[in-house]
Amino acid sequence: MAIIGNTEPVRQGVTRLGLGGSSLPADPETAYRIITEALGAGIPYVDMASRYVNHQGVTLLSQVLRHNPRAAFTFGYKYPHWTISSEREFFLHLEELLRMLNLPHLDVLLYWGLTLQQCEQYGGRGGQFEWINHARRKGLVHKVGFTANDSPASICRMIDSSIFESVTLELNLLHTANLPAAVYARSKSVEVNVHGVMGGGRFGRDSSILNRIVPGILRTPELALRYALGVPEVHRVLLGVSGEQQLAENIAFSAKGGLSPDDRVLVDQVVLESSAAWERFCDSCGACGCCPQDVAVTEMLKLYPLIAFYAITYYPVKKYTRLLQDNRGYERCNLCMECVNRCKFNTLVPEILSFTHTVLNKKQGGIT
Ligand code: SF4
Ligand code: SF4
Repeated sequence: MAIIGNTEPVRQGVTRLGLGGSSLPADPETAYRIITEALGAGIPYVDMASRYVNHQGVTLLSQVLRHNPRAAFTFGYKYPHWTISSEREFFLHLEELLRMLNLPHLDVLLYWGLTLQQCEQYGGRGGQFEWINHARRKGLVHKVGFTANDSPASICRMIDSSIFESVTLELNLLHTANLPAAVYARSKSVEVNVHGVMGGGRFGRDSSILNRIVPGILRTPELALRYALGVPEVHRVLLGVSGEQQLAENIAFSAKGGLSPDDRVLVDQVVLESSAAWERFCDSCGACGCCPQDVAVTEMLKLYPLIAFYAITYYPVKKYTRLLQDNRGYERCNLCMECVNRCKFNTLVPEILSFTHTVLNKKQGGIT
């Protein structure tokens, strides 16, 4: 990957990035090339699970470890904790993994998609966290983290278990609900990594509205990445990358640094105003979801604010195309008005669905 000109900002930017394994392409050769380019550019962290890259995640990681300077990066291994039922099984899993990776220890063992209920169960007498501490004492595991699959309040309680050195949270400019958990984690000296900064593809393409919020930022993916980098509690942003071009673009954006607090306020204001406007019609209660005609009401109601408030269409078109393929599009609606009758705001749901259908249909050049 060619990096032209002053490389110092690039170097500083990439140190706050990590490469998330979940979006890597299924082809191991392409995935390997992307990881190698990321490490070559200075990204110092990779997270991996055995099921990533078409279930070849561990093989790929061992290849990466063999051919790249070990000092240049650390990695997190997403551990399938729910499949392990005894300490013996845990150590067999760990030792087999280390044998495959040809390593004396794991950098970071990640509890994958942990819930508070699992955390409390594992923290009990003779539970998984005792095994983890045995593994730490034996020098087989350096750090332990978790990727959270629970509410912000529950994440804070999991942090209180005192077993974890890091937490990985979902955070992006439209989804800041986990921010209090991030603040709490930092107050407990737990490192905060974030994923989903591109909103699962929502911010991957340009939005004419998002592109004019912060002066000088004319690309939506740039705004999304630099928004996350601008959150002071965030230690590292995990990139979900499926191609080399996308990787290069993200590296270039990160070199410009995180958004300033003032610029983040500009973004937060737009999001707040849009949410307030939409919440007068819909609080996502789901009561209108059971359509007798099987129209995908709930799913389409989630697409509407993206189109109406943010001019985001690429992601909604993809989602709506799938709904049409499942024969759950708006054209099934017979205007029975059951959804309207169920809504506490008396929202004219069919009108919203019709608008969503029309815009997406037009963008797709006639989906139906
Ligand atoms: S019933 Fe009303 S508030 Fe609830 S999801 Fe439907 S439109 Fe939104
Ligand atoms: S008005 Fe249309 S979308 Fe609403 S419940 Fe009836 S058929 Fe379904």
